Amino acid sequence: MRIAIASGKGGTGKTLVATNIFYILSERGEKVTLVDCDAEEPNSKAFFNTKEISESQVIQKVPVIDSDICTFCGKCVDYCSYNAIFLLHDRRIVRVMEDLCHGCGACLVACKMGAISEKEVSLGTVSKYSVNSESTIIEGKMRVGAYTPVPVIKASIKKSNNSEIVILDSPPGTSCPFIHTVSSADYILLVTEPTPFGLNDLKLSVEIVRDMRKPFSVIINRAGLGDRGVYNWLETEKIPVSMELPFNRDLAAIYSKGEIVSAVRPDVKNKFEMLTDSVLTIWK
Ligand code: SF4
Ligand code: SF4
Repeated sequence: MRIAIASGKGGTGKTLVATNIFYILSERGEKVTLVDCDAEEPNSKAFFNTKEISESQVIQKVPVIDSDICTFCGKCVDYCSYNAIFLLHDRRIVRVMEDLCHGCGACLVACKMGAISEKEVSLGTVSKYSVNSESTIIEGKMRVGAYTPVPVIKASIKKSNNSEIVILDSPPGTSCPFIHTVSSADYILLVTEPTPFGLNDLKLSVEIVRDMRKPFSVIINRAGLGDRGVYNWLETEKIPVSMELPFNRDLAAIYSKGEIVSAVRPDVKNKFEMLTDSVLTIWK
């Protein structure tokens, strides 16, 4: 079962939820993998003592244009949907802007002169760490300057295939990285906070997961902060709330020290135990 922990905005507590569910399952001896899909800024690993098992590069092919063969016809430019090829016909200049290239290969098909070959570039890394004999963390990390973290996210999720339970710590927002993460999930927990910002971004993410026809529920973090807007909207939309975590300075302090809240606060652990059981019940 793949459970995605997602949110329409950053800073709502996705990693807090993902790491605590992982901790609970890991303590129970389940075969579980936590995949940190926030490839621009992964940090789930920081909460555990880990040992690195492997690291692999995520490779993409990008075109290389031989300007001695090129006739500067511009066909490759027309085929490239990502504006990744720069051409000045009169000055006989053609360049591939590698950071914009999506590696789709369309320019190779376009060029009838055989002026285009390919080379491999790294988009980032996927690292695997063991926490204990049954539980592992997979961390995707994109290369600074790469156009998107999506290939790294896909490679990270693929690496978790042999695990019975996979927790996906989704990147923030509702753009491609979020969509690619939640689209591979069997169940989605959307984390929000009871503020107007939280409500706005929750509405966006709910719209997407409903379009995908994925089962989901909502976790309200920092309950007690803000207003009743999120609660009223969830009630109107008949969306279930799986758990509430209070707005509490102690919890924030524990989390900011890089500690698992469930490991030091039995009341919070109890909440995460119940949350984990309720999600797994859907699966089993
Ligand atoms: S591989 Fe695709 S994205 Fe890259 S330059 Fe060629 S057409 Fe553009
Ligand atoms: S299609 Fe081929 S020949 Fe034409 S501009 Fe592109 S690389 Fe040059």
